[in-house]
Amino acid sequence: MGILSPAERLIAAADPSEPVETGALTVDLGALAANWRQLAARADGAECGAVVKADGYGLGQGAVMRALVKAGCRTFFVANLLEGETARALAPDAVIYVFDGVAPGCAPRLAAAGLRPCIGSFAELEEWAATGALLGRRLEAAIHVDTGMNRLGFPPGDAAEAAARSSGVAPTLIMSHFLSAQLPDAPVNDRQIAAFDAARAHFPGVPASIAASSGVFLPQRPHFNLVRPGYALYGGNPTPGAANPMRPVARLSARIVSVRDLAVGDTVGYDGVFMAQRPTRVATIGAGYADGLPISATAAPGKAAGEAVVGGLRCPFVGRVSMDYVVLDVTDAPREAAQRGAWVELLGDMIEVEELASRARTIGYEVLTRLGRRYARRYLGG
Ligand SMILES: *Cc1c(COP(=O)(O)O)cnc(C)c1O
Repeated sequence: MGILSPAERLIAAADPSEPVETGALTVDLGALAANWRQLAARADGAECGAVVKADGYGLGQGAVMRALVKAGCRTFFVANLLEGETARALAPDAVIYVFDGVAPGCAPRLAAAGLRPCIGSFAELEEWAATGALLGRRLEAAIHVDTGMNRLGFPPGDAAEAAARSSGVAPTLIMSHFLSAQLPDAPVNDRQIAAFDAARAHFPGVPASIAASSGVFLPQRPHFNLVRPGYALYGGNPTPGAANPMRPVARLSARIVSVRDLAVGDTVGYDGVFMAQRPTRVATIGAGYADGLPISATAAPGKAAGEAVVGGLRCPFVGRVSMDYVVLDVTDAPREAAQRGAWVELLGDMIEVEELASRARTIGYEVLTRLGRRYARRYLGG
């Protein structure tokens, strides 16, 4: 053991439970597991998989997957090869599907990691069959049929030919994707289910999947053999317009780094877009757009600003959101909660991810997946 310098002695004496970061993200893995169990219970006996793309919707693929494996999840979905290789290392025995399909040049590594591409073109089908032939076996894959997204997947009219030409691979899933499942009355949902039924008839005996988070809640109960929620697992509301049936998973807080009093006419931040109309107390918190707080959460004429909870009171963002800071109007907040060093809540019991998203004119999916890398991350119930 070396001798500590005076500065090192001070560091060693500091309270280790107090983060040095000015923002903190807490991920409740118990709530995540409870959400997965709730979705599984709603799926009428269909298997419940989990979509863990984009680093587990920004919350950390490793912690998320370990918690879901422990809860009993056996099938995972990721977007691409690299996420799939990470998933394979985390869950050696799981079934892992890759939405991108067979991206050019990726077939050998997909096969080596035992990943199943979601194939949506004849070119992919042929590459996957050729890779399997080199390995001396038919490789497993999902067949993705497009029923309206026009993004990925075989056009529905190609389903018969895809079935006829898939003898070189082993289809283990026939899948499609809803474009408006969050709208239970959208007529397109019925049209997609009908198109999916017609397509999957060409793949008798192959398990089928069309429902993501919101699809699990559709009145048609289109659960088929496997549902594949993402957003709802992470606490997002799969039924916008109705109360959120899911438990919140992400809590976000930031620390006040500075407090000051403004006189009438004083402005805040770049371009002075906020001007005090009354004597105003403001607090600057240590999180900004580099941490995923959208610049679009800035107040504008006719547009509500973002809010933070300070001592139980909602306090609006004032001035423009900047890279590292947001300024709050804390005039009416309790003094002890609005002082330097205090923590304020940005996401939690009072503010759901949908609320922050709507105040920033975006969606909760984008808020979650853009959470920054500077937060102290804490995982509960891992
Ligand atoms: C992202 C994605 C999902 C998960 O959607 P959620 O709305 O987050 O539940 C399911 N299927 C496909 C094809 C996806 O791209």
